Amino acid sequence: MGIKTGITIFFDLFFPPRCPVCDKILKKQEKICTKCKKELKWVKEPRCFKCGKPVEAQEQEYCRDCAGGSFHYIRGFALWIYEGAARKSIAAFKYRGRREYVSFYGEELMKAYGKELKRLCFDAVVPVPVYKEKERLRGYNQAELLAKEIGRALNVPVKTKALLRVRSTKPQKGLDYKERQKNLEGAIQFFPDDCKGGMLGRILLVDDIYTTGSTIEACTKSLLQAGAGEVYFITLCTGKGC
Ligand SMILES: [Zn+2]
Ligand SMILES: [Zn+2]
Repeated sequence: MGIKTGITIFFDLFFPPRCPVCDKILKKQEKICTKCKKELKWVKEPRCFKCGKPVEAQEQEYCRDCAGGSFHYIRGFALWIYEGAARKSIAAFKYRGRREYVSFYGEELMKAYGKELKRLCFDAVVPVPVYKEKERLRGYNQAELLAKEIGRALNVPVKTKALLRVRSTKPQKGLDYKERQKNLEGAIQFFPDDCKGGMLGRILLVDDIYTTGSTIEACTKSLLQAGAGEVYFITLCTGKGC
């Protein structure tokens, strides 16, 4: 038995791996329990060419938001519909300190999109920022944990301080796209300190959830204004398209 295996066995004895949805102790080799795996709603084809939300018909290229909108990112990827099991898992990841769920998320994102993401040869991975005070209370930024996982898997540098939220914003819930944009105006800014040597080529933005796209759009605009070439995004969850 190697040292690493010994440590892993010791660690598992006291902190056995748990299901990232229902928190039950997992069987050997399992990353999620069978019941919860069935309950996750995977984003499947047909998908919107732009934001990656599922659309109804194969011949439909864009969802309603993207057909009428003018998002500045190139394309987005998402894993699950933000409902049921996925919603429950993210709530625990975000608000109840279950940061260890991130390894499962990272693996699943790579299984689904790893090949495509590698082909895009990103210059940097950038997490969507949260307001410092919020991060201090929570202890971490969930998007940053996810970005680090993805950066490691893709072997691309992660720039955690390229974007900062310079002021707090109202909760976005219940606001429409226009109101959300207004709420975010000037709140997310680019800081070049983290990007010496000019990282701004093709960027992959990372967040936990994509809903109306207003946060991703605000981040994209800041990056483009700072000279980024192209911006893509990846999130764990997305809303339903139409
Ligand atoms: Zn479970
Ligand atoms: Zn779309």
